Amino acid sequence: MKKFDPAIPRQMFWSDSVRDKFHCPECHCELEKESHAYVMVVRDAHGIHPFIVGNDAGHFCAACPTVVLDKETFREMALIAFGSAAQAQFTVLGIVNLAAVPEEMQSRALGEDGNPVPLVEFIRKPVAVRKRQGKAKAAKKRRRGKKHKSG
Ligand SMILES: [Zn+2]
Repeated sequence: MKKFDPAIPRQMFWSDSVRDKFHCPECHCELEKESHAYVMVVRDAHGIHPFIVGNDAGHFCAACPTVVLDKETFREMALIAFGSAAQAQFTVLGIVNLAAVPEEMQSRALGEDGNPVPLVEFIRKPVAVRKRQGKAKAAKKRRRGKKHKSG
């Protein structure tokens, strides 16, 4: 059993886009490594190639649905599979929920007819929401009151 249920859709951050991969970029809780399978997509001159990788490059948050992926590990895996062409563009679509594969299908290759890949896609937040979140401007303007001077 996995501690972090792959069936839960999570927000994904690349390790190079966050300050550190040991704390959640959303709630600042400590992240924990766990090995999971992912659907990666590599684009090269011939087209787009989805494939499944398994690694422990995911750092999961126990407090909220967030995962930080170690970009170097995924880059290496793309390079192993596709050579230097993979350097240009690759992404990860989501986590494969292996527990969702029926028992009678587990000996067969994922993605074969009748045995679809149980992909749980990452949540994509609109860019506008991601930016400037939590940046509250406290506009403190002092108003000059009327001075009542008597005498
Ligand atoms: Zn979190």
